[in-house]
Amino acid sequence: MSRLSAILLLATSTVYASVAPTHESHTENKPIGNKWYHEDDHPVHALFKRGPVGDGITYPAIGTLEWSAGFPQATADTTFLPKAWVDALNAAALAGKIPDIPQSTSTNGLDPVYPTGYDPMSPTVCSSTAKCVTQGDIWEAPPGIIALSFDDGPLPASDQLYQFLAAHSEHATHFVIGTNILLYPEQFRTAFETNQDDIAVHTWTHPYMTTKSNLEVVAEIGWTMELIHNSTGGRIPRYWRPPYGDSDMRVRAIAQQVFGLTTVIWNQDTDDWTLSEPIPLTTPEKIQQDMTKWLTGPKTPGLVILEHELSDQSVKSFIDAYPMMVSNGWTRLSLAQLDGGAVYQNAWNSTSQVIPANVGDLAAKPPARASTTAKPSATSAKIPVSSPSPGKPVSSDKPHGNQKSGATHFSVTSLALTGIAAAIVAAAAGTIMA
Ligand SMILES: [Zn+2]
Repeated sequence: MSRLSAILLLATSTVYASVAPTHESHTENKPIGNKWYHEDDHPVHALFKRGPVGDGITYPAIGTLEWSAGFPQATADTTFLPKAWVDALNAAALAGKIPDIPQSTSTNGLDPVYPTGYDPMSPTVCSSTAKCVTQGDIWEAPPGIIALSFDDGPLPASDQLYQFLAAHSEHATHFVIGTNILLYPEQFRTAFETNQDDIAVHTWTHPYMTTKSNLEVVAEIGWTMELIHNSTGGRIPRYWRPPYGDSDMRVRAIAQQVFGLTTVIWNQDTDDWTLSEPIPLTTPEKIQQDMTKWLTGPKTPGLVILEHELSDQSVKSFIDAYPMMVSNGWTRLSLAQLDGGAVYQNAWNSTSQVIPANVGDLAAKPPARASTTAKPSATSAKIPVSSPSPGKPVSSDKPHGNQKSGATHFSVTSLALTGIAAAIVAAAAGTIMA
């Protein structure tokens, strides 16, 4: 992220116990199509100001002043949250759907910690930063499948990635940052309209989400969903990936109960996001070594590799590894299409019709995307997308950490993208809508 020249604060090394997820589900694992909300009076479709499609509603063109109007610029503002969002949060909390656990704290960008008495591996907290796995979250792909997804876009470096994906008839899921959509509307348009890729949520300002209050979590997710909704003809994302993979029972409950989102993490981490940092935690060579190990290794489970469209270097790390994905026989699928279900809550994919209801209400699924090529598809049969089995390690890597020797990790700061994005938005205000 050359433009986002973040200051990387190398944190103190912390002992990181190799942990195995062992906790039972505390969230409802609801398949697509089920009513996720506990009452029928606040479906997710009603949460967005422009409302459901089908009533002659039009959306302003991406990049126009009308398009960006009404959205917070620098921070995920909670002072003017739509009432419907707050009402949905309060209703979910009143129904006992939002666990009452404290916010974590992150000092100098270090991994969040909880107050004394709250074990991040306990069923009550179940922190994904600590590698606690909850059923219903996606950590890995079905056997033989590599899920293509990229975080932190849209950005200038996205151009090269999108050209490569299109040239190879591949589709990916883009976990986008809301403020980056405002800054780079043309890249967003390319991802969604030209490439017909899948759009998912990566929050508005890229914070450690477990450090945020319930209202702040609603703001981070809600503003991003609304901008995606308004920029995709009314589509409502079905997936989100918390920045740094940082979620817990409270945060994932808000994402699911208020917004109907499924949480996505990963089972392999390239650390590619640090390649453009002042102190990279990896090298292109190291990434290719890791990629070789993963792509030539066992195909069970399938791969969900954390990759970023953050910098030319991170994009290149994917492009360099791509031939191995092909030569080793991996089925490449956009992450949002792993289970053969819908990409969005109210549309099967980025080209199919948007409906004012959940896709599960439709009788039949339309053909896959209009421009799809003769790639293997998971659309003909439901492929179970599972979390790792209890007791099974999900990854040898730590989210955005650098595994050194043995059990010692160097945790690094968050990129503090909140501040960075804010600064960029502020600096670019007035020019991005030109
Ligand atoms: Zn990210």
